[in-house]
Amino acid sequence: MKLSYDQLYKKLRSRFGYLNWWPGETRDEIVIGAILTQQATWKNVEKAIANLKSENALDLRKIRRMGLRRLERLVRPSGFYRQKASRLKGIASYIFTNYGSLDGMFDKSTAELRKELLSLNGVGRETADSIILYVANKPIFVVDAYTKRIMSRVYGIDERIDYDELRGLISDKIGKSLDLYKDFHAQFVELGKEHCRPRPLCENCPINEYCRYFKNASGK
Ligand code: SF4
Repeated sequence: MKLSYDQLYKKLRSRFGYLNWWPGETRDEIVIGAILTQQATWKNVEKAIANLKSENALDLRKIRRMGLRRLERLVRPSGFYRQKASRLKGIASYIFTNYGSLDGMFDKSTAELRKELLSLNGVGRETADSIILYVANKPIFVVDAYTKRIMSRVYGIDERIDYDELRGLISDKIGKSLDLYKDFHAQFVELGKEHCRPRPLCENCPINEYCRYFKNASGK
């Protein structure tokens, strides 16, 4: 039996509950987290965020003014720290030089905002869409490596699918809803962390009876 994307969401939500994402207390923290999480585990991002917090520097205005070496030291646990420190300073500088605030930058259409974010150094599609969804509060579906892996295993979609193609495939089927997009992405992350790992833990997975990979592996 094929699981619709709506049913997929409901199954995940009934297992994991409403996840209230993104895990960040302020909009600055979410923007910073979206950069730090590139090629990093969330555990290591949390260490970098804790460093920034401990020096009262989890703030884009402060990051803009901070010395680069100090910022590198604080974000070091998230890996690629030189690159990430420079990206953070670049983004902070861009926002406050051109708009004076996050609100100023976000006061435009989703398409315009996405184009602008993607023009910034170090902002790829996943990072741009995370900022648009969780900071600007505009409905755009975020795709990440977990999404690709799960969609590939459950539905047989090629894991190398283009980011925007998969984003379109999912959002066309589930409609446009800010809350749903926020929580659906969080559910994918939770399933990816808890069960659908590189070596999956399928036995107790909430969607195993619908999953192609599991059926093939178990001969069901
Ligand atoms: S059944 Fe296994 S492969 Fe399928 S989604 Fe669950 S954990 Fe992933």
